[in-house]
Amino acid sequence: MNRTWILTLLAILLAGCLHADFSIMVRGDTKAQTLSETSINNVRYVDLESFGKVMKAINKLDWNEGRVFLHIYDEQFIFLDASPYYSFKNESYNMHYPLVKKAGKMYLPSVFVSERLKVHFGKKIEVKGKSITVDKPTDHSVITIVLDPGHGGKDPGAVGRKNKTNEKDVNLAVAKKLKALLERELGMNVLLTRSDDRFVSLQDRTKYANERKADLFVSLHTNSSTASQSKGLETYYLSTAKNSDARAVEAIENGVVELYEGGSAAKSKYDDLAFILSDLSQTEHLESSNLMATNVQQNLVAGTRSPDRGVKQANFYVLRGAFMPSILIEMGFISNPEEEQLLANGEYQDRLARTIFEGIKRFKFRYDRIRNT
Ligand SMILES: [Zn+2]
Repeated sequence: MNRTWILTLLAILLAGCLHADFSIMVRGDTKAQTLSETSINNVRYVDLESFGKVMKAINKLDWNEGRVFLHIYDEQFIFLDASPYYSFKNESYNMHYPLVKKAGKMYLPSVFVSERLKVHFGKKIEVKGKSITVDKPTDHSVITIVLDPGHGGKDPGAVGRKNKTNEKDVNLAVAKKLKALLERELGMNVLLTRSDDRFVSLQDRTKYANERKADLFVSLHTNSSTASQSKGLETYYLSTAKNSDARAVEAIENGVVELYEGGSAAKSKYDDLAFILSDLSQTEHLESSNLMATNVQQNLVAGTRSPDRGVKQANFYVLRGAFMPSILIEMGFISNPEEEQLLANGEYQDRLARTIFEGIKRFKFRYDRIRNT
């Protein structure tokens, strides 16, 4: 071997030492993945996004608040921009080096990968120098969905002008048909907030979805207007910003509290929930809720040929407490004699269920891909 060769070899070895990237092997996989390291201010870092991809961690960045949320094996880590501290299961931990923002990217100190992960996850993570073996990351696909047939029991919801059809009955019938489709064709775990004619408070509906750790929440309603010619479909997701039209529908659906849950005293418990709006756990789902609403609305309109009144935002109590993508569908105007007849018709209910199903299916396909990559 001549001198040039030896020097080249030395250079390669040296470079290898300087850029000793992590090699992460997922148990069950045949090929390890490389996680590159970068030196920032003489400290080793990994780019948070790349790390998230390897661990199939859902990461959410809240740039305004300087917070980063990372979900690994269904556990949540919260990091703060420029801080060495992070929170895990309500405890605070010190990495000794801060999270760093550089050129629009977030960097996590390598020490988190090499030292901290195994402390939190035990046998799931095995570290040997730069080689790390990890348990298969959690599958984040949508599995559990809560369907919420609006109203029920003493609360009939809106009542038809022509045949006195009760909204609560239409909502329940479509929910049951939709449940069957989601179970049969997508193998989903489908839960109903009520499976018979009973009263359930708005708060209990979302509480149920949260407790069951549902991935999606879909509330089914029929619309009502003093103008009997009003007709068509609307799909809502949560917001405080709204137009007067949306405000009118919001007033009707939220009116359940005044009418059937004990009036203004009961109303205060929903106003106490206002903080939820500022909570990131809720706002982080708005984009997904919008996407689900759009997919459902498009399929509903195409499949029923009922007028498209659009995807809208309103501050529905029933969506406020939900910690998952959530929508509320107004499947037609029960106050319109023509639509009342359709809504009460079993075959039309089948079509509503089928088209909502197609919308959820399309959304699930995209959402699963986003969450698993
Ligand atoms: Zn309703």
